[in-house]
Amino acid sequence: MSNLHVMEIKTTRKEQFIDITAGINSLIRKAGVSDGLCNIYVPHTTAAVTINEGADPSVVDDVLMQLNTLVPENNAYTHAEGNSAAHIKSILVGASKMVPVAEGSLQLGTWQKIFFCEFDGPRHRKVFVKLLMG
Ligand code: ZN
Repeated sequence: MSNLHVMEIKTTRKEQFIDITAGINSLIRKAGVSDGLCNIYVPHTTAAVTINEGADPSVVDDVLMQLNTLVPENNAYTHAEGNSAAHIKSILVGASKMVPVAEGSLQLGTWQKIFFCEFDGPRHRKVFVKLLMG
């Protein structure tokens, strides 16, 4: 039996960080995994996944603002689809994270949350969650 889980996410803005921590913890509980590793993988080229502070929403706002300073929307890009900035931000933030699981939940730090990062929305997106037991 496959234990690859697919989370469906509908983003509502062009750029958006969405806290998916509770959804992943719920998958872990339903799968009955008490100890192991959780791999979170984003199968998209203009989105990403990251882990950072979730208590103060201005942190992810600042991250997004600075990413937009580092990667300007308009530049001498050649990609005809016109979304090269989103592709570059996806590369910088990354497509996957691995988090330890113990006692049936993600072992995140006090302030850490897992964020799905949209850089070219709004779109219908997927996140793959693979649970490795042991
Ligand atoms: Zn493109």
